[in-house]
Amino acid sequence: MTLGASALTFSGLATPAHAQVPGGAGSPCIETATHDAADGARGGHAGLDHRDISAAQQRAIEARTDRRLEAMTAKQKKKAQTLAATVPVYVHVMRDAAGNGDVTDSQINQQISVLNNSFGGGGGSGAVDTGFSFTLAGVDRYNNNQWHNDLQSESYRSQTRLGGANALNIWLVDFDYLGIATFPWDYSSDPDIDGIRVQYSSLPGGTATNYNLGETATHEAGHWFGLYHTFQGGCTSTNDEVSDTPAQSSSTSGCPAGRDSCSLPGLDPIHNYMDYSYDSCYTNFTSGQSSRMDQAWTAYRG
Ligand SMILES: [Zn+2]
Repeated sequence: MTLGASALTFSGLATPAHAQVPGGAGSPCIETATHDAADGARGGHAGLDHRDISAAQQRAIEARTDRRLEAMTAKQKKKAQTLAATVPVYVHVMRDAAGNGDVTDSQINQQISVLNNSFGGGGGSGAVDTGFSFTLAGVDRYNNNQWHNDLQSESYRSQTRLGGANALNIWLVDFDYLGIATFPWDYSSDPDIDGIRVQYSSLPGGTATNYNLGETATHEAGHWFGLYHTFQGGCTSTNDEVSDTPAQSSSTSGCPAGRDSCSLPGLDPIHNYMDYSYDSCYTNFTSGQSSRMDQAWTAYRG
């Protein structure tokens, strides 16, 4: 295990169980790359934790979204936006056979509150209300050693996923990542695995040091709504397809005030939920990100 070398290690993962996960750190990304064109993980291993999307793929996705929006009537768009008002959330707690990996109902409720606060603009400086809110629609718990470690992930997700395109499914597992998400434009081809996988110890009150305020779910939900990392594309003007998140050359670790990794205008958006900073460092989504989420929602989840 090389967690100690990661830019974003957290002690909660340094348990013997992780050393037994077949395939090691990179496997979730590699195994599902063709289907689960999503986030790599926040806080995983440098070079493996971030599933790159090429500039060409990025252009194709943007064009596809534009085409879908152009093809929709005003009525269809309005209906989609109404649906977006409240997102039903299904939480799947994947415990091992001995019951490890459980979280309390209180932690789950706190997690929903964190999502509502973060997406509602309550995070602090620069925060905008994205207009999205969340309500807990269901909690189920499983005891399965494989599922607990995120093995057979396509199988377990398809067996347990609930709701439609507008439902956020959160699978709480114990793996080498903080989280992995699917993107909205992949829903139509892979609806059964749509959602986010989140390290269970990242929930509020969990043991993931520096990452236990519940913002991993915020970050992964951001991907689920169609946001890229703020460091997507590095120091390019295209960057993350959002004009009000200054470009940055790479992910941020910790909370380094004043970081400015590109010569393009603006300091790195280290307080943005779509960077890799500590939970306590996050304060905001931007209005540009809010607009992007609206568009992706309308095109793919409404
Ligand atoms: Zn991410």
